[in-house]
Amino acid sequence: MTSTDVYENYRAAGRISREALEIGADAIKEGVRYREIVERVEHHIHESGASLAFPVNIAVNNVAAHFTPSVHDDLAFKRGDVVKLDVGAHVDGYIGDNAKTVEVGTTRHAKLMEAAEQALGAAIRTVRAGVTVGEIGRVIEDQIRKYGFEPIRNLQGHSLEQYRLHAGLSIPNFHTKNNTKLKSGQVIAIEPFVTDGEGYVTDAGLSNIYRVAKKSVMTRQLYNAFRNLPFAESWMYRLYGEETYRKLSFLMKRRMITPYFKLVEVKGGMVAQAEHTVYVTDDGCEILTLTE
Ligand code: MN
Ligand code: MN
Repeated sequence: MTSTDVYENYRAAGRISREALEIGADAIKEGVRYREIVERVEHHIHESGASLAFPVNIAVNNVAAHFTPSVHDDLAFKRGDVVKLDVGAHVDGYIGDNAKTVEVGTTRHAKLMEAAEQALGAAIRTVRAGVTVGEIGRVIEDQIRKYGFEPIRNLQGHSLEQYRLHAGLSIPNFHTKNNTKLKSGQVIAIEPFVTDGEGYVTDAGLSNIYRVAKKSVMTRQLYNAFRNLPFAESWMYRLYGEETYRKLSFLMKRRMITPYFKLVEVKGGMVAQAEHTVYVTDDGCEILTLTE
């Protein structure tokens, strides 16, 4: 595999994940079921010849991240909901990760959503080889504060590598003294989270999202399907049907799979998020998660 192939795979994955995100976001309306959005997004990614890099995340109001509906969920959007849709596609393991926020039928939280988009834009304009991750965090925090909101400090952007969604480097959403410098050729996801609450999230129940923690004969089929990437209960259901639930509890008890927890703002604050995946260059960056 040449570096050109790697780059082309990232570009394809980025384009497909943006198209899927927009298809999903445009379909979010009052009364529409979460499952319908998931199905539309998944359909576009599969139809485009890519794979899901993680379950379609739908995080509503004070839920910041990590939730996808289960097979039998009949959850539907309500007027006034602030919905973070977070979508990832991969091509041969090279991942595009992106997110946006939509408000259902009202505009009460337009400023919160604008703050997330503006913070992301300012961060992207700052990215180039040699810039520290602390500097990116500072730019994000400054922009969010201009709107009078708080960044969420315990949610971060991240580097991406083949089949690795969080590949080691974290991109903070607030000012830190982290002097780690970005390098040319790195692929990073930048994702400011903005809240009118305290600025932290905490675990709150199951998300219907898991990942393989230990490769064994018991998890071989799951590992072959998803590697170490997060997978949805609903994807497991396609493999095992009603056996899924027994299998899940068996594998969790033995710590062969790890559950992700739903992340909610500690003070119940409203949360908005915006995210792009970018390719770092010597003089800036290329946004990979764009439609053509
Ligand atoms: Mn994401
Ligand atoms: Mn991400």
